[in-house]
Amino acid sequence: MTTIFDRIRIVLIATSHPGNIGAAARAMKTMGCKRLVLVSPKSYPDADATARASGADDVLANAIVCENLEQALSGCHYVFGLSARQRTIPWPQMSPRECARYAAEQDSAEIALVFGREHSGLTNDELEACHYHVQIDANPDYASLNLAAAVQILCYEMRMASLEQVAPKDNSLPAPVDELERFFVHLEQVIVEVEFLNPEQPGYIMRRLRRLYTKAQPDKQDINILRGVLSAVQRGRRNNT
Ligand code: SAH
Repeated sequence: MTTIFDRIRIVLIATSHPGNIGAAARAMKTMGCKRLVLVSPKSYPDADATARASGADDVLANAIVCENLEQALSGCHYVFGLSARQRTIPWPQMSPRECARYAAEQDSAEIALVFGREHSGLTNDELEACHYHVQIDANPDYASLNLAAAVQILCYEMRMASLEQVAPKDNSLPAPVDELERFFVHLEQVIVEVEFLNPEQPGYIMRRLRRLYTKAQPDKQDINILRGVLSAVQRGRRNNT
């Protein structure tokens, strides 16, 4: 029987303390979660990671190490970014519980939960690669949890949501994030070409456009249409010059 944890990956970005990687693996395994992806960890494999994983060394042994976030998110339909901080351009928000329910409902979706660095969390660009910003409600005067503690809370909520056996929704899946990223690259290229965006002074335009399209959750066909529109604009310009 497959469980929610067959389609959830926990992504840790640039973790500096290998002990936290081990503690995260342990937090995952206690809840039944098994797929760990490490993006440029500072030191891995490492004896501290193995020691802190305790009996969860199988989660560590199966961890995938990637060079960048894009690789780590390959094939994902929904991406949730964990951050304690509010941003200038707020991203669509969910609580850990809402996030877990949502993940349980999207029956066949591949899902990533992305956690940031111990010292500086997630960058804006990393959060913008996510569909939702998930904030763990905490003491407003001291809201930054230890990385593995944050992983524990999310995995616990995922477990609770999977035990509730929420009825799967018959939604069509959004396009995998790789395709969405290629669309954003193309969109930026075209709005620079038509001089709507000045690359010297980009402001918040791409950020806002990313948020708009990410919220809309376009599927593969929608992306094909949007890419077709962009290509037609490029062809039209070439024919007129
Ligand atoms: N000082 C960092 C916090 C790092 S804590 C900052 O300013 O962002 C390491 C990671 O744990 C964070 O990047 C985030 O993924 C997760 N985390 C810690 N506390 C959290 C909270 N209250 N809500 C959501 N994620 C949290």
